[in-house]
Amino acid sequence: MPPSETPPHPAVIRSRRVVLPDGERPADVLIRDGRIERVAAHGSAPVDGRPVTDLGDTALLPGLVDTHVHVNEPGRTAWEGFATATRAAAAGGVTTIVDMPLNSVPPTTTPDGLAAKRRTAEGQAWVDLGFWGGAVPGNVPDLQPLHDAGVFGFKSFLAPSGVAEFPHVEQAALEAALAEQARIGALAIVHAEDPAVLAAAPQRPGAHYRDFLASRPAAAETAAVARLLDTARRTGARVHILHVSAAAVLPLLRRAREDGVRVTAETCPHYLTLAAEEVPDGDTAFKCCPPIRDESNRDRLWEALANGEFAAVVSDHSPSTPDLKLLPELGGSGDFAAAWGGIASLQLGLPAVWTEARRRGHTLADVVRWMAAGPAALAGLTGTKGAIAAGGDADLVAFDPDGAFAVRAAELHHRNPVTPYAGRTLTGTVRTTWLGGRVVDPAAEPFGRQITRPQEPK
Ligand SMILES: [Zn+2]
Repeated sequence: MPPSETPPHPAVIRSRRVVLPDGERPADVLIRDGRIERVAAHGSAPVDGRPVTDLGDTALLPGLVDTHVHVNEPGRTAWEGFATATRAAAAGGVTTIVDMPLNSVPPTTTPDGLAAKRRTAEGQAWVDLGFWGGAVPGNVPDLQPLHDAGVFGFKSFLAPSGVAEFPHVEQAALEAALAEQARIGALAIVHAEDPAVLAAAPQRPGAHYRDFLASRPAAAETAAVARLLDTARRTGARVHILHVSAAAVLPLLRRAREDGVRVTAETCPHYLTLAAEEVPDGDTAFKCCPPIRDESNRDRLWEALANGEFAAVVSDHSPSTPDLKLLPELGGSGDFAAAWGGIASLQLGLPAVWTEARRRGHTLADVVRWMAAGPAALAGLTGTKGAIAAGGDADLVAFDPDGAFAVRAAELHHRNPVTPYAGRTLTGTVRTTWLGGRVVDPAAEPFGRQITRPQEPK
């Protein structure tokens, strides 16, 4: 057995602030064979001579699960790659990522595409890594083989995706994809903006953020979600709305759930922590689709989060090379219409959300529910990931909830030093990340594993 596969010795991690599924309390976490053996009273260890790591007042969280990450490798590795993305994840307290099926070439829309992803990721994963498949026009016959191969579900776009090799689905193709996914029991995850509403919106290119915002109105989200929910109701598919930006979507979801539609939704750190009013003109690091909206919308997203209306908060980490962001400081035009639409934040999601959550009176246990347990449940990984509980993987994070730091993009592990959080002071620092009971060291060999969707519901 190579050293990277040797299970770690049994150990104990102690903290006065262990965030457990039923809240935060002092505890000892006993680890054996890479799993959490049990949670014991604080100070009850040492047990059978195991080494104790005492974190004092530094909190111990379950490793975060980020089900929305665009790694972009193979094919657009200059945008982001497995090594850089997973090192950034570990440094940000994320111990499991699920990779999106587009922006890599080939996209993950065929079994060959999935095999290419897996081959390329081999030996490059500092955290555990799974894959979403993609449902695009014409690939219905590929969905079952991909699902059998362990993808976590299938992403579709209702509006153009931004890359030619991953076309969006018109209504007939959406119906076909959802019908097949209902048949095979797959989770459909959907980028919901309506192309007709987008086409009818005022298009004023340039560096004014207000013009960009007007070009992607909330009505594009509500129209797309309404159509998707109607299709889900008729096909019986289980659907998940990706990156909800417009709070106006939420009443539609409530009504559909009352109607028996199986629908969940996520939102992202940038929608919860940034606002249109503060986006500088020309600063295309803030461009994403759907866009960051105004402060009152952000407050409504927080209300919904507090009410349990979002299943998860995940990054939608979607970087590109700096030239494609057209950043003025690099000689670009700062044109929001033409710049790549995607925000890089994988390493910063936890402190960004915690900084704002704490200001609004939320607890670490809330953040863990939104960013660990919630996305783990979405991916069917409850019991293995996303909680400090006996039997789960010993994926853990030592987190100082009071440690403040200034974000310097070039110091992040992301491949490209572009992020809208640059220059901000965030609160909450990741001190140590454990994966399967072993400390993750970005400078050492990786030992993350490729994971697949559990084949039987737990
Ligand atoms: Zn995305």
